[in-house]
Amino acid sequence: MQAIQGLHHVTAVARDQQRNIDFYRNVLGQRFVKRTVNFDAPDTYHFYFGDRIGSPGSILTFFAWTNMPRGVRGNGETNALAYKVPQGSLEFWQEHLKKNNVSTNPIEMRFGEKVLSFEDPDSMRLELIESESNSPTKFWEAGPIPQEYALQGFHSVTLWVDELESTAELLKNQMGYQVAGQEEKRYRFIGDKNVSGHIVDILHRPGKMQANFGAGSIHHIAFRVPNDEAQLEYQSLIRDAGYRITEVMDRNYFHSIYFREHAGILFEIATDTPGFAIDEPVETLGETLKLPAWFEPNRKAIEESLLPITLKAFEK
Ligand code: ZN
Repeated sequence: MQAIQGLHHVTAVARDQQRNIDFYRNVLGQRFVKRTVNFDAPDTYHFYFGDRIGSPGSILTFFAWTNMPRGVRGNGETNALAYKVPQGSLEFWQEHLKKNNVSTNPIEMRFGEKVLSFEDPDSMRLELIESESNSPTKFWEAGPIPQEYALQGFHSVTLWVDELESTAELLKNQMGYQVAGQEEKRYRFIGDKNVSGHIVDILHRPGKMQANFGAGSIHHIAFRVPNDEAQLEYQSLIRDAGYRITEVMDRNYFHSIYFREHAGILFEIATDTPGFAIDEPVETLGETLKLPAWFEPNRKAIEESLLPITLKAFEK
């Protein structure tokens, strides 16, 4: 059975939909690759940001939940998302973020790489890490950031847990990750080295407060499998290991199964196929509201329940 290669997508919660788009698209230079609704709550948006085509390992998605109280950080959650950036680009990002009124923390070293951390407008924790890119993403030429500085898909996520062993065992025994090192309380696990988002870090925080889910929290992280067949193999394997895992859900752009690991963090396993070009051409991704076939009869009511959003112009 093939090991999990890396992350497929990460999903978080944003309160202000326009602010969310302005930040990820116009400030961080991620392409807005899909404008759709939350399939479990179709009167709210679901946004997808990624590289030019929304490659697995570059996709950050948001549920836009206007009235959600702010989340509180703690154990039992995915606490941070890191993107890869080219070597020598962090000075550009320090300046660029400052110009856009985003305050950054001093650059720190982690496993020999430079890390710049900051928060998104909902206080979600983001990191840019100078790292050799071993699988270049599809650069969005029309975007606001020059290619020499542009984000290159995910580097890693950081999980905060009270108890290390059970999460570590799951990654190693069921998901095919390898132990890659330890720095103080941070334990690193790696999947396939040839894909974006192949690193999972666990920060061991025994006895610390549990997280309280809300706006700015990461809702779940999705790992990738190539196709439906591999997904079903994982469903059996993880069920046999004693986890309660869902049936396959059709997310239109991929198929998904979900389970909570022992620390309480929601994991998803998603297929690479069919991808975001299934219902609109790559050239115009994200420009209009896309609905799965089963919601099309309700399009008018759905559109009326959503606030208007705009893709604002930016300086190149
Ligand atoms: Zn998901």
